[in-house]
Amino acid sequence: MNNDQDNPYITALPEVQSIVENAEEQRILVTDADGTSYLISRTQELIILNPGTGERQFLKTQQLIRTQDGRIILNPGKEPLYACNNCNRKLLTQQSIKFCQSCQTTECLNCIRTIQDPNGQPIYLCQTCFKNSRMKRIIQWIFTIRP
Ligand SMILES: [Zn+2]
Ligand SMILES: [Zn+2]
Repeated sequence: MNNDQDNPYITALPEVQSIVENAEEQRILVTDADGTSYLISRTQELIILNPGTGERQFLKTQQLIRTQDGRIILNPGKEPLYACNNCNRKLLTQQSIKFCQSCQTTECLNCIRTIQDPNGQPIYLCQTCFKNSRMKRIIQWIFTIRP
């Protein structure tokens, strides 16, 4: 170690300076289509050596990220995360999004439009499909309602 002052992993103790013997970090990033990346998990493992006593300290830190809908990402890289195609909210969990039943785009529950089919079942449409198909759907309904 030439310049311990510049090493951010050095822990300054009152008498003895500890040295980071080994540092490992694993990060999981989500990258949007526009190239913007979001950290969804970080795990850091440090082995810190006390040169005075020869004692080693093993430190493992896992940083968990909270999604924009208020949930913790417990299984980063395994559980699907979504963005709203309308309001652009990122890192949403399955609980707060719906797929448009026309184009399969994801929108959050604030943005998705809900209509009812002739049987009273909900149909979820994104804002674009809702606007584009309003007239078409009215005409289709008229034909499906009549026997
Ligand atoms: Zn939205
Ligand atoms: Zn759609």
